Amino acid sequence: MCGVVAVIGKQNASELVIEGLKKLEYRGYDSAGIASVSEETLHVIKSEGKLINLIDKLSEVSCSNLKSVTSTSIGHTRWATHGNVSVENAHPLISENKVAVVHNGIIENYELIKNKLISEGYRFKSQTDTEVLPHLFNKYIKLGNNLLQAGRLVLKDIKGAFAFVAMSLEFPNELFVSRNSSPLAIGLGDKSNFVGSDAHSIDHLTQKIIYLEDGDHALINLEDVQIFN
Ligand code: GLU
Repeated sequence: MCGVVAVIGKQNASELVIEGLKKLEYRGYDSAGIASVSEETLHVIKSEGKLINLIDKLSEVSCSNLKSVTSTSIGHTRWATHGNVSVENAHPLISENKVAVVHNGIIENYELIKNKLISEGYRFKSQTDTEVLPHLFNKYIKLGNNLLQAGRLVLKDIKGAFAFVAMSLEFPNELFVSRNSSPLAIGLGDKSNFVGSDAHSIDHLTQKIIYLEDGDHALINLEDVQIFN
């Protein structure tokens, strides 16, 4: 089992995400990664092996204010199911540097979706099932949908077991999350909100925790969490 953590609305979001990922280490993982929005750019850092490798890479990033300025950040510890253990296959998976997704579980019908997206011009950089998610979000956002609308269209396309968090440069202060057969908790903060695979991964940030149920999706921004069934 692997883990997801996301933080929105905190200046040092990337550091808080790393703290959360440390608390999920007990679940086992083979690689890790983090994506943050800073200065209207998506910064993605990934590494194989233990979290310390990711932390070392993060401390080397040229964007020196990434750690202090980011207010939206998503992170992942991966247990590979589709594709070997590599930096390319580590999450977050991205589409055209605009959308980033972290995902626990398996997208069962990914091959069909992937072939269709390739025929539409999307370029895949990993062997994962997960990479269809950022490309689908990107496609639906480009068609004029907001993040919630895009997420709902993605949910209509996919089958499988999942808990995922999606972020888009076009909506830097929002996260779309959904779960089906994989756990996901949302933490409520003050002008900030949090997501984690379990309550422990975000209990350094808040004690107010909501568990999503199977089939739920949610739109999260700085002030608000809207949950839909
Ligand atoms: N199926 C995805 C992959 O192989 C997610 C695995 C996981 O749950 O960590 O990348």
